[in-house]
Amino acid sequence: MSSNISSAFLGFSIGDALGVPVEFRTRAALKKAPITGMIGHTLPHCQPPGTWSDDSSLAFCLAESLCNGYNLQDIASRMCQWRMEKYWTPHGSVFDIGGTTNSSIHRLVQGVAPTQSGGQHEYENGNGSLMRILPLVFYLEKVTSIDKRFEIIHEVSGITHAHPRSKLACSIYLQFALHLLSGLNLSQAYQKTQQDILAYYQNHPYQKELVHFQRILQQDISMYPEDQIFSDTYVIHTLEASFWCLLLNHTYSSVVLTAVELGDDTDTTAAIAGGLAGLYYGEKAIPEEWKETLARKQDILDLANRLESSLQA
Ligand SMILES: [Mg+2]
Repeated sequence: MSSNISSAFLGFSIGDALGVPVEFRTRAALKKAPITGMIGHTLPHCQPPGTWSDDSSLAFCLAESLCNGYNLQDIASRMCQWRMEKYWTPHGSVFDIGGTTNSSIHRLVQGVAPTQSGGQHEYENGNGSLMRILPLVFYLEKVTSIDKRFEIIHEVSGITHAHPRSKLACSIYLQFALHLLSGLNLSQAYQKTQQDILAYYQNHPYQKELVHFQRILQQDISMYPEDQIFSDTYVIHTLEASFWCLLLNHTYSSVVLTAVELGDDTDTTAAIAGGLAGLYYGEKAIPEEWKETLARKQDILDLANRLESSLQA
C-alpha cells in the first residue's frame, strides 16, 4: 500500500543510496561524470548498489520507536542498538558515522540521559540530526500544540545535536514537511514555513540563532546561483542545499540527482532533499529500477505500514 509514509521513507533512503557511492567526490568531478542511477562497489565505502547509510539507519530507528508512541529514551536506545548491534543496517555493518553522533551514542551507552547526551558546542553543528529527523513529522501531525511540537523536535535533535542551531534546522525542515503533508505546493509551503518559524522563534531563547538562517528564512534560497550553495556537512549548508534542489526541480529524480551532483556530502544532501521530494511527488514518481535495487525494500515498506497503523490507532 502506498502512503505518505512509504513515499517519504523510499524518498530519503533512495536519495541516500544514490549518494553513498560518490560521498566526498567533488562537484567538479561529478559534473564531469554525473551519476544517473544506482551504482556500487566504489571507494570509500565499497557497498553494493542500493545501499543506504547511517542517515537512513537512524531515521528507521526513529520510525521503529514511534510505532510505540513517543519515548525519547526508546529512540536513543534504538540508536545505540544500531551502533552496537547493527540494528537497521542495510547489510549488517555500520560503515559510516559522524563524529558528533558517535560521541553522543557513546555517552548514551555509558548511561547518560538522552536529554544530556548531545553535542552542545557551536562546532558540533553537522547535519547529523537533520539527516534522521523526517519520520518525526508523521507523529507531529497529531500534536496540536505548537510549543509541544517544537519541544519534541528539539528533544529528538538533542539526543545527538543539542546546539540550538541544529534544533532550529530540524524545526524548519519538519515545518516544511508538515505544510507539504497538508497539501500546499512547494512555494506555498516554503513561504508559510518562513513565516511560521520567524514568528515562533522571534520570542524564543533561540532567537539569536535566526541570523544564521537568513538566506533560507528571510530570502528565497532558490534565487542563489549554484556556486553559492554549499554541500559540506554543516547543518545550515545541508538545509539550504536540500531546499535549493527541491525548489528548483520538478521531479523526484531530478531533485535527488541534483543533490548528489552538488558533491561532498552527497548521501545526506540527497537523503534530506529526497525525503521531501518523495513526500511531495509520491511513491509512483520514484523510478521503479531504483526501488527494486534498494536494500531491504520490503522491510522499509513494512516499517512504513506499521508506523501508519500505529498512528491511526
Ligand atoms: Mg551517510
